Amino acid sequence: MARARSTPADDTFTLYDLKIEVVATERPMVCNHQAGAFFELKGENLSLPPGQTFPIYPLAALLPLLPAKQRVTHPHDWMTTDTEIACPDPHCGGRFRIIRTGTSTFRHADVTAVPLPAPRPARPRRRAAVPARTRRGARR
Ligand SMILES: [Zn+2]
Repeated sequence: MARARSTPADDTFTLYDLKIEVVATERPMVCNHQAGAFFELKGENLSLPPGQTFPIYPLAALLPLLPAKQRVTHPHDWMTTDTEIACPDPHCGGRFRIIRTGTSTFRHADVTAVPLPAPRPARPRRRAAVPARTRRGARR
């Protein structure tokens, strides 16, 4: 299970690896994408199978969703349940299925120059509440 938090001693975090696959519908596809074509996303790196291309217009429509799909989302969140995105060309029947294929673990220090917040100091223990009358009596 992917974790949302890390501690300074362990600056690791986990993201889902994604596969984005072209899915055919009953409507013809007019763009240069064929059913079964795909690309994968692992961390910040997008990869295509050797020799395969992917048109930039559906890629532009998919890109804003992918970082959210890489992260743990609430089971009731539509980002969790909805996995198919329509091609942005209104004449194209193509859809793109976003599949969580696994997870990868990264170190915060390897992916950003921004330091983690300093750990919070331990809170002093609270004294037990003592009624005022008892405190006065203790001074005598
Ligand atoms: Zn299309």
